[in-house]
Amino acid sequence: MYQISIKIKYEYAHRLIHHAGKCRHVHGHSGEATVEFASNKLNNNGFVMDFYDVKAPIKKWINQFWDHAYLAHEKDPLLPGLQAEGMKIFIFPEEPSAEVMARQLFEQAATLERPPGVILARVTIRETCTGSASYQRSDDNGARG
Ligand SMILES: [Zn+2]
Repeated sequence: MYQISIKIKYEYAHRLIHHAGKCRHVHGHSGEATVEFASNKLNNNGFVMDFYDVKAPIKKWINQFWDHAYLAHEKDPLLPGLQAEGMKIFIFPEEPSAEVMARQLFEQAATLERPPGVILARVTIRETCTGSASYQRSDDNGARG
């Protein structure tokens, strides 16, 4: 099976409100998302699919919602103040961990048009130089077109 990946870099702030350690404090990351697609066949260009066709819409979504944003748990008590100040905020129904971000971006990337036979294989969110989290479907990869 052939596999391609695209990477997008962005900056964000977050905190984990239930974390007992330092992650409960507001802090920032230079994040990097890697989105991987796979196929058993190549198109007439010898591609799984064109990098541009995948990268442009994902980059647009990340720039709109995550880049230079505060990623927040919906129960974060800081939210009202930040919203009153007009801050860019993206709200999750749970902790905005790298794992949760990976699933969110996977679900977003899954809505992209792609050629028949091309599956969304995995999304990885790199949070630090040494730490990352990935999300992939465990059972029905490709079954949702
Ligand atoms: Zn963090």
